[in-house]
Amino acid sequence: MQLSTHDLERWDKEYVWHPFTQMKAYRREKPLIIERGEGSYLYDIEGNKYLDGYSSLWVNVHGHNHAELNAALREQAGKIAHSTLLGAANVPSILLAKKLVEITPQSLTKVFYSDSGSTSVEIALKMAYQYWQLKDPVRFSGKKNKFISLREAYHGDTIGSVSVGGMETFHHIFRPLLFERLETPAPYTYRLTENNDEEACKALCLDALEALLKERHEEVAGLIIEPLVQGAAGMITAPDGFLRGVRELCTRYEVLLIADEVAVGFGRTGTLFACEQEGVEPDFLCVAKGLTAGYLPLAATLTSEEIFNAFLGEPEELRTFFHGHTYTGNQLACAVALKNLELIEQTGLIASLEKKINFLAQKLAPFRTLPHVGDVRQRGMMVGIEIVQDKASKKPFPIHMQVEHHIILHARRNGAIIRPLGPVIVLMPILSMSLEELDRLTDITYKAIETVT
Ligand code: PLP
Repeated sequence: MQLSTHDLERWDKEYVWHPFTQMKAYRREKPLIIERGEGSYLYDIEGNKYLDGYSSLWVNVHGHNHAELNAALREQAGKIAHSTLLGAANVPSILLAKKLVEITPQSLTKVFYSDSGSTSVEIALKMAYQYWQLKDPVRFSGKKNKFISLREAYHGDTIGSVSVGGMETFHHIFRPLLFERLETPAPYTYRLTENNDEEACKALCLDALEALLKERHEEVAGLIIEPLVQGAAGMITAPDGFLRGVRELCTRYEVLLIADEVAVGFGRTGTLFACEQEGVEPDFLCVAKGLTAGYLPLAATLTSEEIFNAFLGEPEELRTFFHGHTYTGNQLACAVALKNLELIEQTGLIASLEKKINFLAQKLAPFRTLPHVGDVRQRGMMVGIEIVQDKASKKPFPIHMQVEHHIILHARRNGAIIRPLGPVIVLMPILSMSLEELDRLTDITYKAIETVT
């Protein structure tokens, strides 16, 4: 059947309900329908070519349609696509677990698979709660059933991960369905301090966390944090030493630390994992997005020997972790993840990032002088450009003006796909992008933001 652009656009609007999308507004515009990808570029059904400035929602590592990743997938598909991990094992999931343990912080020795960032977080939350119940059923009975997360936190969209979410727009409506969360301030230096004073911001946030822990730690199973950068909140970059400070407080007050590296893992912040930059060993590490380099849904929750051992016992003792998804440890996804990790090593990807990160920083400097740019935040290959109506008061534009939407449409017309998060324009270039491509991406973005009056 010959598919026409017109039919596809019509059927998209008629049948597909898009995530995080107001469909009334979506249906007023011409949809962007992607047909294929090649390297750093996406192509729509009319053949238009765009730089992928959001790494297809922060997942792509080596570029689209990558010959070696394709081959790994084909090779595995020629053996088997899926068999269950319930009561059985499979080769790629064993090899991948071993590899993940080798490359993540030393404290982490066990891997529990799932299929999205949200489920990797659910698992960490449930494991943390059950761990305390198993560790000391008398002391902790009915206690340690709460979690701390940061203001503006985003950890996914399932009920548990929404419960630890702190973004009013996304989470407010669901509050009556959720378990109780304790909130601590996010290190949002631009909004919390007068002159972008990172040290003052860090001290303020760590003091507030310590006060909360002092009062409530007996009730708290764990603290969940997006290390170094709160992505969905608009790329809130934490001051140096903040993550380490949080780790120290968690240890002091007997609270487990869950590092949600779903967005920041696999090179995004310039090191393989963000925790490495502050020498932090979390009790749980959640990874997803970049794990398969943008090929297939796969996630993992890593944890320590201490946590794992608490769950050991005879079947009738019911210490088992009763959780598992149908596609847990899927062979196709694990095979492509293994190839992704192999490529990261073979291509020297992490070492290649420093030059790109510095280049980006240099390209971003002039953005600060634009009349409606309030703040420019960068950590590695993650960038947030905060748009304000008025620089002095830091007031954003009213939502109905759709300023950020106009910016991304302008960029799209000029050949780059980027996305806003509220008033923040986000750049998440594919890690394998060349300097020339980064140059073009930032130029297109600059010109788009320049149009704001
Ligand atoms: N945690 C963080 C830090 C994220 O940024 C995201 C997604 O953006 C998630 C969890 C949820 O991941 P998923 O969309 O794969 O469920």
